[in-house]
Amino acid sequence: MIPFRILRRSLLAAGAALALTAPAQARDVTTDKAFVDGVLDRSYAHLDALYKDIHQHPELGMQETATAAKLAKEMRALGFEVTEKVGGTGIVAIYRNGPGPMVLVRTEMDALPMEEKTGLPYESHVVTTWNGKPTPVDHACGHDIHMAAWVGTATALVAMKAQWHGTLMFVGQPAEETTQGARAMLADGLYQRFGKPDYGFALHVGPAPAGTVQYRAGAYSSNSDSLEITFHGRGAHGSTPNESVDPVIEAARFVTDVQTVISREKDPGKFGVISIGAIQTGSAGNIIPDTAILRGTIRSHETEVREKLLEGIRRTASAVAAMSGAPAPDVDIEVGGRAVINDADLTARTAPVFQAAFGDKATVMPTPINPSEDYSEFIIAGAPSLFFSIGGYDPKLIAEAAKRGELLPGNHNPGFAPTPEPSIRTGVEAMSLAVLNVMAP
Ligand SMILES: [Zn+2]
Ligand SMILES: [Zn+2]
Repeated sequence: MIPFRILRRSLLAAGAALALTAPAQARDVTTDKAFVDGVLDRSYAHLDALYKDIHQHPELGMQETATAAKLAKEMRALGFEVTEKVGGTGIVAIYRNGPGPMVLVRTEMDALPMEEKTGLPYESHVVTTWNGKPTPVDHACGHDIHMAAWVGTATALVAMKAQWHGTLMFVGQPAEETTQGARAMLADGLYQRFGKPDYGFALHVGPAPAGTVQYRAGAYSSNSDSLEITFHGRGAHGSTPNESVDPVIEAARFVTDVQTVISREKDPGKFGVISIGAIQTGSAGNIIPDTAILRGTIRSHETEVREKLLEGIRRTASAVAAMSGAPAPDVDIEVGGRAVINDADLTARTAPVFQAAFGDKATVMPTPINPSEDYSEFIIAGAPSLFFSIGGYDPKLIAEAAKRGELLPGNHNPGFAPTPEPSIRTGVEAMSLAVLNVMAP
């Protein structure tokens, strides 16, 4: 997942509206938060060390064996029953505490195939083998922050076990970045073997100010599909283009013409993106090649927009091939992360807790985020959920960067360097209070 907008919308109006419709809060959020903070004061040094260890030793999707082992050890020490190797490298940690709802809390465990350039003392210098090549690895999406907050939340909830009832299902998911991990865990019988959660929660850190929480009902993230098109032609000498059917021309036309699907066919008020990130063709300046391969990503929030984009891509690809008198292209669209749709009731039930705990630092996101998330698979399989964002940068750093007219590096940038404290603390507070709210009404 990639950059999160810095959300600035005042929540006064939205907060007042939610307060009218949300059920009365039986629990005192201020007391609960003080308790969680007390647990954090005792456990924070450990969480910080865990975070830095995971950050310095990142692993790519489906290779997260050392990371999964670290999390499994933490959860066993807290009294969870841990099953490893669920859907590849995934882990499931169960804590039974009497009759009551089953609540899923997810973290992702994977890092990204890129070189870290933060200069932090705990910077990663890990190089692994990926697609047969030596590849640097970096926790540039903040999943290390999520893992520390996940363990911290488990620590807080176990410390508060006299105050809630039910079953915690803490899931450590592999391969979020490739949107394979959630599906792999579900296909390995996650809900059949361990039970179907009544509620689910997950969070993501971004470049908003640390200490803040952002949430919204309905769509939170986008649909993501990946695209691969092979244009076919006929190769020839560069000096005799008349003997060729030039796939470079087909590819070039496609790249520009497909943007009219966005600018002329899609409703301009609705989110939709088609980005071509790779073109592979040819070998030398004087050879017209016989094929061109394009790869891209397609993003949308709504099913109807997604279908319009997919149809437009297929039509444009066929049309540019026809213009060149080329054979029909191969258009391969692979479904990636589907949009995360937050449950309206669960969001309305959690919003007053966030507002009581964080005041004006808890805000409603005006729009969904552009990136995608495969947490949606857990929702589609039957767990009504709330996926929310937390800020990750010291507000002072954001203000200094703003004075220079700069934005701090966001997720997936090699310079992404969230401030661990209070980001991890805020993650633990928000997640613990959200879970407690549905398990101890
Ligand atoms: Zn990411
Ligand atoms: Zn991410």
